[in-house]
Amino acid sequence: MLYFVEVVLPLAVPKNFTYQISETEFHYIQIGMRVAVPFGKSKIYTALVITKHHNPPQLYQAKEIHQILDEKPIVNETQIAHWQWIASYYMCSLGEVFRAALPTGYILESETIVTASKNQTETNGLQDDEFLIFEALQQQSSISIQDVVKILGKKTVLPVINRMLAKGALELQEEINEQYKPKLMRYIKMPEHLLQPEALTQVLAMVTKAKKQHELVLKYFQLQAQHKKPISVKHLLDFSGSAAAIVKALVEKEIFEEYYLHQDRVVFEKKNDADFTLSEHQQTAFDAIQTNFNSNDVCLLHGVTASGKTEIYIKLMEQYLHQDKQVLFLLPEIALTFQLVQRLTAYFGNQVAVFHSKYTNNERIEVWNQLVANSEKAKIVIGVRSALFLPFSNLGLLVIDEEHEATFKQQDPAPRYHARDAAVVLAKMHQAKVLLGSATPSLETYYNTKNGKYGLVTLKERFGNVVLPEIELVDLKDCYFRKRMSGHFSDTLLKEITETLALGEQVILFQNRRGYSSYVECIPCGHVPHCPSCDVSLTYHKFKNQLRCHYCGYSIANPTHCHSCQSVDLTTKGFGTEQIELELKTLFPEKKIGRMDQDTTRGKFGYEKIIDAFKNQEYDILVGTQMLAKGLHFDNVTLVGVMNADNLLNQPHFRAYERAFQMLTQVAGRAGRKAKKGKVIIQTYNPYHNTIQQVVSNDYLAMFKEQLYERQNFNYPPFCRIIRITVKHRDFEKLKEGAMWLYNVLQQQLQIPVLGPEEPAINRIRNEYIRTILIKIPTTANLGQKKQVVAKCLSSFEAIAAYRSIKVTLNVDYS
Ligand code: ADP
Ligand code: ZN
Ligand code: ZN
Repeated sequence: MLYFVEVVLPLAVPKNFTYQISETEFHYIQIGMRVAVPFGKSKIYTALVITKHHNPPQLYQAKEIHQILDEKPIVNETQIAHWQWIASYYMCSLGEVFRAALPTGYILESETIVTASKNQTETNGLQDDEFLIFEALQQQSSISIQDVVKILGKKTVLPVINRMLAKGALELQEEINEQYKPKLMRYIKMPEHLLQPEALTQVLAMVTKAKKQHELVLKYFQLQAQHKKPISVKHLLDFSGSAAAIVKALVEKEIFEEYYLHQDRVVFEKKNDADFTLSEHQQTAFDAIQTNFNSNDVCLLHGVTASGKTEIYIKLMEQYLHQDKQVLFLLPEIALTFQLVQRLTAYFGNQVAVFHSKYTNNERIEVWNQLVANSEKAKIVIGVRSALFLPFSNLGLLVIDEEHEATFKQQDPAPRYHARDAAVVLAKMHQAKVLLGSATPSLETYYNTKNGKYGLVTLKERFGNVVLPEIELVDLKDCYFRKRMSGHFSDTLLKEITETLALGEQVILFQNRRGYSSYVECIPCGHVPHCPSCDVSLTYHKFKNQLRCHYCGYSIANPTHCHSCQSVDLTTKGFGTEQIELELKTLFPEKKIGRMDQDTTRGKFGYEKIIDAFKNQEYDILVGTQMLAKGLHFDNVTLVGVMNADNLLNQPHFRAYERAFQMLTQVAGRAGRKAKKGKVIIQTYNPYHNTIQQVVSNDYLAMFKEQLYERQNFNYPPFCRIIRITVKHRDFEKLKEGAMWLYNVLQQQLQIPVLGPEEPAINRIRNEYIRTILIKIPTTANLGQKKQVVAKCLSSFEAIAAYRSIKVTLNVDYS
């Protein structure tokens, strides 16, 4: 009999592949284990076993696998089923989902580059083959896995690499800049034979002449008597006030033995004062959610900002923990995990695990393994959208906070999934419940509560009867006309800032653009410097004195004269966070100003530093982009200013007004917490715009009704599903022709509305021209069948030689 495994490769190939294995391997391998396989000319990839069988492939000769990488499955069958759903719904390959799902350290391939860990200088604990790699890395700064194959003279090197990664002796190249935290902790103990009663005097005799050693030995006994646990060197030194050299001397005398224990990289401590009781309103909402779960799998908690949704989540999660279930808590943004992790760990202690992309590979693998083991340490997982791919075995509850946030939808690369929707599907597979939370729910979700698909619980009161902030509009047109502006600040806003600061309270200012100005313009000739590779003007960054492209990263020094007419009369147009920060420094020279945007939050602890500093009142005013609109809590903030609401309204997108409402309401919600009524000043050229008025009166329902009506009129979600096809090529003519061909075929074959091919607002990025085609699939049509037709049209497109080099991407439920 022949034996085969079918595997997924972490690649964008549309199929799975079959490899031959021996009978012994067949009995050893289980679905969900990884194997190293050859693919292509000489490459080795990490692949995942998804079936085992006895049928040779018909179209090719099956190769043999190289190596089995796991002793037990690291992916379970529910995950595989969920990934298959994602691949099919979002129209990508299972390999692409697999690649997005696993931490990079788990899908090594022969082209991965490894570097030495900066912290590893000791070679003890390394096996022979590991030592060879270690040595090679002393000569060269980095080596490829192909090099490792040569060094070791064998092909199956991934297990060795994996071992070294786990020991912290290697890093993957992408992590070069990350700070590595040691994983092994040094412990000491006395050898067994010295612990016998009669040996004790002998030990003390060995150190009678060395007073400090003598003292340390006595301290060691004392600690051991109290502690009865392994004693780390650090603990002993802290306890005794002794020095590392003394420990070393005792190790040399063989009175102490050193050993190393695995130390979790991330450890949380429970705080005793973290308990709380729900308010009456919260309790009512809490009960309503539970009743709702009797008849619905998904429930929306529509609670105003600062209504205490988090506390309701916590109490609900606790119930599922008592039933020994796992809980997944999804957040839209890494910046938010920080505050939430603090709150949840204070309550649940070490049962909380965190998973997001600013964590190192090793930290991510650690969480993964804790879930494989269904460990107590990962009963609650907090993460951003990719946490959805973790190996949960027993999910009871999924909480999706700020469910309206656009960042839940992945844009690039595939899988372009929506984490909220994929979470609902995952919950079904686990027979778990989903709680969606927001002060400003997405139109889709609220619509789902109206048509009975989801339950709805509303919480209108802020916690502690804090009142909602008062929102005041400032008409910019009028202010400029009456000359009541200093820079970008109206008199009204300035007066409020001054008063707030005088009371020792803090201010948040929101401007949805980073950099100093949107662009630079020549006054005599009107020339605006553009990015040479993209169809956008360059943004001026004053601190670095640069013009930068926000799409491709291109930058040049700020020009001293116009490149078109040589004039030195240049001016800047539009404004970003940098300019606001500078104006504030002139207006309030005594005050400390912080800035939070993509430029100031790079690096692993970028967000934390700024959030902490503001919380500790090291800044009086914080200027920022949308990052600070989301669920962050600062108790001392009583004034929020929106510098300009209009660029939110003027986005060319069917969701522009919905998003403007959400963003403004959320920013406003940062004002006034704990016993202080807040104030919000919105500066705008459109004070009578419906959306702005809805924000002022905090009327979500009015916004919902108006926007739903528009969506129905113009046929947008939730009244249809959108698939957006993007085509890109460097050759403008070829792209135009190809896009038209594709559009015509789709139009003929689908018999539903197809729009395009359209030039998007920015029609060239990194030297590639772009065209988009929108397919609107009516909710009444058979979605699966329409997708099949789309897929067929695309494969005929790809079969045309002239169009083969045109890049095509599909975005299902484009939003
Ligand atoms: P939301 O997530 O709805 O914006 P939060 O859950 O962050 O609101 O709650 C707002 C503030 O009220 C927080 O500072 C929180 O600690 C406090 N709070 C909410 N509920 C309680 C409670 N039951 N007991 C004590 N403090 C609470
Ligand atoms: Zn560019
Ligand atoms: Zn000019």
